[in-house]
Amino acid sequence: MSGEYTRERRLMTDSQIRARGVRDPQVLAAMDKVPRHLFVHESLQAHAYADEPLPIGEGQTISQPYIVAYMTEALGLRGGEKVLEVGTGSGYQTAVMAEIAGEVWTVEIVEKLSLRARAVLDGLGYANIRFRVGDGSAGWPEAAPFDAVMVTAAAARIPEALEDQLAVGGRMIVPVGTDLQELFLIRKGKKGVERERRLAVRFVPLVKAS
Ligand code: SAH
Repeated sequence: MSGEYTRERRLMTDSQIRARGVRDPQVLAAMDKVPRHLFVHESLQAHAYADEPLPIGEGQTISQPYIVAYMTEALGLRGGEKVLEVGTGSGYQTAVMAEIAGEVWTVEIVEKLSLRARAVLDGLGYANIRFRVGDGSAGWPEAAPFDAVMVTAAAARIPEALEDQLAVGGRMIVPVGTDLQELFLIRKGKKGVERERRLAVRFVPLVKAS
């Protein structure tokens, strides 16, 4: 039930997220609200609020809570934005963004994960999420431009197709690299894109459609 684990979730937000410098009140409120334990297998629910990533099946993981909060804060969402997410995974990051943004358009390459995430998110009542199964490296051209793009699997290079789908004034956060990866924050202005390196991270790689 979403009413369970309220204390664990509050402790997570305080000790892992606020304590490490995430300040955006909307991000903190979303982390405090979204029932992370519902996005993992029942046998892992007791670990859902621990300071670590967890397996979600199909060789994939749900990111550590701090990384979810950090990446969401980096997008600077204020409300009303149209967001593209590449890598739905468990749907947890999707939910955190759907709490703040206007709409989240999320693409996942593994159908089983997409269907499972959709069932959980529908069950929680989110009505502002669109799902697609496919290769998210190409973005979602028919729905572009997006005010923000969240990539939750590592790209070998900065994905230009996704930069192209950013609105002017938009932001993208994306892990880039193979063995060593860094989060890049990309801002699109009238005169072009600025690319800023942020944290060192470790994500599963983006896979190519076969
Ligand atoms: N944000 C997720 C973390 C997902 S891990 C969460 O909160 O649970 C990364 C996800 O990206 C995996 O589910 C993986 O299957 C997916 N993925 C990998 N390559 C992809 C691609 N090319 N297009 C779309 N999704 C992809």
